[in-house]
Amino acid sequence: MKRLLPLFLAVILCFTFVGCSEANDQTPQAESPSETITQTESESSTASTEETTSPTEATTTAIPETTDQPSTSSTTPPAVAEQLPVDSSFSIHFIDVGQADAALVECDGHYMMIDGGNKADSSLIYSVLRNTGVTKLDIVVGTHAHEDHIGGLPGAFNYTTTDLTLCPTTNYDSDAFNDFKKYAEKNGGGITIPSAGDTYTLGSATIDILGVNDGSDTNNTSIVLKITYGSTAFLFTGDAEREVEQAILNRGADLSATVLKVGHHGSDTSTTYPFLREIMPEYAIISVGTGNSYGHPTDNNLSRLCDAEVTVYRTDLNGDIYVTSDGQSVSIFSDKTAAIDEIMTPGSSVTTSPPATQKPEPVQNDSPSEGTDYIVNTNTGKFHYPSCSSVKKMKESNKMFFTGTRDELISQGYNPCGNCHP
Ligand SMILES: [Zn+2]
Ligand SMILES: [Zn+2]
Repeated sequence: MKRLLPLFLAVILCFTFVGCSEANDQTPQAESPSETITQTESESSTASTEETTSPTEATTTAIPETTDQPSTSSTTPPAVAEQLPVDSSFSIHFIDVGQADAALVECDGHYMMIDGGNKADSSLIYSVLRNTGVTKLDIVVGTHAHEDHIGGLPGAFNYTTTDLTLCPTTNYDSDAFNDFKKYAEKNGGGITIPSAGDTYTLGSATIDILGVNDGSDTNNTSIVLKITYGSTAFLFTGDAEREVEQAILNRGADLSATVLKVGHHGSDTSTTYPFLREIMPEYAIISVGTGNSYGHPTDNNLSRLCDAEVTVYRTDLNGDIYVTSDGQSVSIFSDKTAAIDEIMTPGSSVTTSPPATQKPEPVQNDSPSEGTDYIVNTNTGKFHYPSCSSVKKMKESNKMFFTGTRDELISQGYNPCGNCHP
């Protein structure tokens, strides 16, 4: 819906306070042309019958490492962004699919879909791809065979094709999986089971497979992958639980990431302290449904994130969440705002709120509320302090909540309001 704003020199907003800060806003999404994708390796089994249970070792090729560890180089500035093409772009759209997972990753005009929600989300996935202007998906990942991850992927295959479909198994007894498999064979090159250590590229971004089939429980078969873009990184863990986290820790993988897609919808069985300590994320995204019967996210999971001083966003409260990176820092926008208190309230405590009442009542008090620095009128292109009187008159549909600096907004082509002089 919202049109993509071009230049995304997003610089991260420094949440000056630590702790469990919060989220908001709508967004643009980057889009830009570029080169072809290259698949850098994968020694993987392709479709057919076998259901493997434990490939582990690395079979990677030499891909230039772009990790965020500041190496001991001398005169070069700390950032790695010089390796990125000038017109490079990167974004992730966490699609609100309720109690399920779905994310569309874009880098330099290349796209990867990680999970696609439930069967009922197929048409949503189809329209997100269409509205984003995707013409082809380079990679489709079904993190594991559960319906809330692969159920809606047929929508992606209906919309377009992909050459590479990754999933930890080629067999699982459910209609949703059989449907997914059928479409993957038709439009996705069949299912490929990756191995830990495999590496792929998406435009200028690198994708490292950190774990697959590290446990026998279906959740623990989850593909765990890390996307590295410049010096920012994004970790996706599907529904992996503590056994998998431990297995990955044991392998000594570099887990450091700017953004963590929290495992298993914020279940207590995921996001252990040792795992978090290695990741050290600035942001965590929890994909979770309003009033879900599992009580996700749980109190314990949220407290661990809080202890780690991670800023949390939740699809049940924030709606669709958009992350962009300029290779050095990350900006986050979401469709709805939510107060920190709400964000840090376990799912079990909000089960009674009917979905329809989730409508955000954005910031009309006199000081900028936490998390939202400015409100943009997408119709006029002007931005305001949340306290500005014109915000009260603004049509809800024209409001975009923005957390970040004034300069960022100006660099995106917005102008400061003449009344509140933001
Ligand atoms: Zn799930
Ligand atoms: Zn699952």
